[in-house]
Amino acid sequence: MPQVKFPKHFKGTNTPWLAYRVKRLKRLWSAGLSAGYIADELGLTRNSIIGKVTRLKLGDHKTKRDKRANAVDLLEKRFGHLVVIARVPNDSHGTRWTARCDCGTLTTVRGSNLHAGRTSSCGCRRG
Ligand SMILES: [Zn+2]
Repeated sequence: MPQVKFPKHFKGTNTPWLAYRVKRLKRLWSAGLSAGYIADELGLTRNSIIGKVTRLKLGDHKTKRDKRANAVDLLEKRFGHLVVIARVPNDSHGTRWTARCDCGTLTTVRGSNLHAGRTSSCGCRRG
């Protein structure tokens, strides 16, 4: 029988939560990015992201895909230089999304502007 050993009180001696990561986590989380995406960004597991978010009491955000009929799912779609990576809570004007520009900048855009082709970069390019 193969022997599998689990540490009795494993808490991790090398905390991955260095100050800069916590800072980045807070920023990305408040931007409405998913735990999975943040995990990739920080090079950590999704579970550790969720655990940290819980410990920091950062609260829930609205990245869960919206099932309402008028919420068009734009996740991972590309519009010009922008790739949509997360849903942002609606404002009074409708659906908003977080998109990553080819230049690396994260920006919040309205779904209607994406559809109309009015927004196709973070502002670093014209058109
Ligand atoms: Zn850009």
